[in-house]
Amino acid sequence: MYNKELISPCGLYCGVCGIHKAGVDKDEPLKEKLAKLYGVDSPAKIECAGCRSEEPFFFCRVCAIKSCAEEKNFEGCQQCESFPCEKIQGFPYPEAKGNMLRAVPRWRELGTEAWVKEEEERFRCKSCGTDSFRGARKCRQCGTVFAF
Ligand SMILES: [Zn+2]
Repeated sequence: MYNKELISPCGLYCGVCGIHKAGVDKDEPLKEKLAKLYGVDSPAKIECAGCRSEEPFFFCRVCAIKSCAEEKNFEGCQQCESFPCEKIQGFPYPEAKGNMLRAVPRWRELGTEAWVKEEEERFRCKSCGTDSFRGARKCRQCGTVFAF
C-alpha cells in the first residue's frame, strides 16, 4: 500500500523527489547540494514528508494545482477532464512540467497503486538497484549515468 501523504495531485510523486529522499536517507551531502539549488539557508531544512503531509517543504506548501484538486475533491489531476490545464501548461519549471505531462496520463491508465510502483521503478538505478529521484543525473551509489 502506498503512503497517501506522498501522492501529489500534479503527478510529481513525492516518493521519487530528491527533497524527500535526502531527508529519509539522512544524506547530508545531498541535503547541502539541494539547499543551494533551492536557495535554502540550512541543509537541515531539506526534509519533506510529502505534498499531502502536514508541513510540506516550503516550495510545495502553497500550490495552485494542489488547491485546485482539493477544491474538486480529486486525489489528483488524473481524475480531471481539464488535464493538462493552464496551471500545468504554465508551470514555470520545464523539467517538472515534462514529468507531469508524462506521469499523469500513466496514473490515469494504471490507477494509483500500480502507478506509484512504476514511478519508483522508473527512478531506480538499473545497474545496482538503488532508489534514486527525479532530476538525478547519476546514481549516488554506483555512479551510473541515468538516461531519465
Ligand atoms: Zn547504481
